[in-house]
Amino acid sequence: MKKIAIIGRPNVGKSSLFNRLIKNRDAITSDLAGTTRDVKRKHVIINDKQAILLDTGGLDKGCELFDKIKEMSLKAAYAADIILYMVDGKSIPEDEDKKFFYELEAMGKDIALVVNKIDNDKMKEKLWDYYEFGTGDIFGISVSHNRNTVALLDWIYEKLPDEDIIKEDDTPEVIQEEKEDISDEEFFSQYEQNDDDEFYYWDDDEDEVEDDSIFANNDNIKEFDENDINHIKIAIIGRTNVGKSSLLNALLGEERSVVSSVAGTTIDPIDETVEYEGKQLTFVDTAGLRRRGRILGIEKYALMRTKAMLENANMALVVLDGSQPFLDLDEKIAGLVDHNHLACIIVLNKWDIANKQEHEKIIREVRDRFKFLSYAPIITLSAMSGQRVDKLHDMILQINENYSQRIPTSRVNEVLERALRRHTLPSMHGQVIRIYYATQYETRPPKIAIVMNKPKGLHFTYRRYLTNKFREAFNFEGTPLLFKAKRRGEK
Ligand code: GDP
Ligand code: GDP
Repeated sequence: MKKIAIIGRPNVGKSSLFNRLIKNRDAITSDLAGTTRDVKRKHVIINDKQAILLDTGGLDKGCELFDKIKEMSLKAAYAADIILYMVDGKSIPEDEDKKFFYELEAMGKDIALVVNKIDNDKMKEKLWDYYEFGTGDIFGISVSHNRNTVALLDWIYEKLPDEDIIKEDDTPEVIQEEKEDISDEEFFSQYEQNDDDEFYYWDDDEDEVEDDSIFANNDNIKEFDENDINHIKIAIIGRTNVGKSSLLNALLGEERSVVSSVAGTTIDPIDETVEYEGKQLTFVDTAGLRRRGRILGIEKYALMRTKAMLENANMALVVLDGSQPFLDLDEKIAGLVDHNHLACIIVLNKWDIANKQEHEKIIREVRDRFKFLSYAPIITLSAMSGQRVDKLHDMILQINENYSQRIPTSRVNEVLERALRRHTLPSMHGQVIRIYYATQYETRPPKIAIVMNKPKGLHFTYRRYLTNKFREAFNFEGTPLLFKAKRRGEK
């Protein structure tokens, strides 16, 4: 697969473009600039072709030392086949950019000059200045206003070979970026390997920067306003025939007509929104649900489709058929929720025809099979008769509260201290590990920073122990709870 790198000075909009290309998830939030030094790799799908996107991450916004940037960029550029050289259309062309651009061009790679922040027609004039680079592959775009990005995508698309078109027999694993469950050994060895990797980081001071956490990728940027907790974006997922479309209709409160199909095209996402008790519930990407069996019928498409839905959601309703034995595909689909750290509810549908004598056994089986969703509440209902659909509405609101809540620092630390007293932190290679305090630094989902002397000393098992203690103390039902070990003073 071809590798694409986005290169350029700080602040030109590389991360923004990166996020846009990977559907706005999973790069670096600005408050963490400088803490991550990995070059991130993500699978992207441009129309129907796959590629790997490299992000030169970890750019310190305050750092204007061109040498450093160049050094790091070069590392990514060497590894890439396609280079998007990004500049800021609001500033004038710089000789060093030009020089660097030519250097990269001379390496024989496909390179486009991407002039970002051309937010309106007036700004287009600024583009002329950049023609002096002398390249025909120049794109005046605005990532934040989504202008002209299609032309750029088309250019990239052309550079990708036909063999990278997603094929029938491509396994869905191809686009799955992370393992769901890794052992402590695997985790630590992975970390060590990363440290030695050829081009993965650029920071001089190895010790200053920590990326010790399996949650290192968790600081996602979300497209909508984080603070808008009145808006809940919900993905209804599950295999064919479990009753997703029926549930959507039941939740929307009316039968809606099936979206007419356009042969041979990929489906545009269609979001449908209802208001419930002052909250907006948006069901994302419902076109697939409107077209029963066509897309969702084939396992690999079902998984890809589900992934796309989850990217745009902050809550997942995992629908299972409560009247039937569960299948491996149920597990595979549910397994995708974890990756996006979404709030989650498990819906056992078709309860009207389920064997209610077996109620407890069925619940136990769900818990057993879907261990990775242990935080998700289970609701039994019937989408067909509408039984308990109202209860699901209420549950959605409650889980959204849990997912969006902010716990005062004093309370977080009460719980932390109690936990520390019960189980002291194990030392690491004879070094004393100390936790100073903890604080919640993000919501949706809640993320807690553990501030300590040696962030690497927060072992996975201790992290798990803390998770349990926090879950006991607060109502985090239905929401993932993430920890990040940090150094004092580190943002
Ligand atoms: P990076 O450091 O090069 O990765 O840049 P970022 O993606 O973090 O963007 C730097 C700043 O430019 C952020 O404040 C963005 O919101 C802003 N930005 C990104 N794209 C655009 C754009 O198209 N127009 C404008 N006006 N600002 C943008
Ligand atoms: P999807 O493929 O997951 O969207 O599932 P559908 O909503 O198309 O439902 C599949 C089949 O299950 C249809 O024949 C529905 O009428 C039926 N069904 C859906 N929900 C229920 C339910 O709660 N109880 C019963 N008995 N059948 C249901």
